Amino acid sequence: MKIFRCVSDWKNFLPSIKNRSIGFVPTMGALHQGHLSLVRKAKRENGFVVVSIFVNPTQFNDKEDYLNYPVTTEQDIALLKKVRCNALFLPTVQEIYPNGLNEKDPLDFGFLASTLEGEHRPGHFAGMAQVVERLLRIIEPHKLYMGLKDYQQALIVEQLIKKRNLPVQLIKCTTVREADGLAMSSRNIRLNQSSRAVAAQLSKTLFFIKRKIYSLRKENNKNVTIEEIVQKAKRKLQRFGEIELEYVEVRNGLTLMPVKDYSEKPLVALIAAKINGVRLIDNVIIS
Ligand code: AMP
Repeated sequence: MKIFRCVSDWKNFLPSIKNRSIGFVPTMGALHQGHLSLVRKAKRENGFVVVSIFVNPTQFNDKEDYLNYPVTTEQDIALLKKVRCNALFLPTVQEIYPNGLNEKDPLDFGFLASTLEGEHRPGHFAGMAQVVERLLRIIEPHKLYMGLKDYQQALIVEQLIKKRNLPVQLIKCTTVREADGLAMSSRNIRLNQSSRAVAAQLSKTLFFIKRKIYSLRKENNKNVTIEEIVQKAKRKLQRFGEIELEYVEVRNGLTLMPVKDYSEKPLVALIAAKINGVRLIDNVIIS
């Protein structure tokens, strides 16, 4: 696997793979099977796969969170070699932001970026979109692989590609979970034993909501509202003292607008919570 640390080295290398389809998987490192599933899919669908590892400072609204973000580069390199990734782009902050962190040309994603994560992490999506655009202009991939684990992020990147007219196809990939349902995340390594046990409640809650909505649809039961299901889910979570819930919501799966009627399709149930200070998010699609 080739490792590139400079934009110029990558640009010099690009002509040598000009006849191959380039698949790109941007990450912040601390790689796990969720990331590797994206790399494997990209490998199946492209002649050349490049992964980037870059902990992007502009998307962290919480400095502590940025400083505590796990870095496991040597282990990441070994994992990427194992799945036969062709190249790793490992830039410094200076490479990505040569004119400093304050240079901005933000797009307006409207409600899509101001709700849910946008509300709880102000500035997060502006920073995320900024780095994804920069990485796409550097890497010049044909296909971009992103996980549905970050559902709102995937919808915003879809809009970014449209609005900036970027010549890349976004491939949204399914969430990989641990055996107990916990969505894999780089942050999971920061959970202690008891937090790790409790963390599975987040996906359990989402699957509870999904099952309830499916059965209401099946029975055509109009007496129970989505709001009542969500309230019940919240009450279940309140039993776990370690869980500091930020939101549980059922939204329209395309626009993220609030929904009243469970017959709308697709719906998505989304959750964000801190467990002993570790912030986790998850979602399930209710198609
Ligand atoms: P991150 O390193 O957290 O920025 O994630 C990099 C990419 O991997 C993003 O597109 C994520 O949505 C995706 N990803 C993270 N966790 C998972 C998972 N459990 N399953 C599938 N994709 C994931």
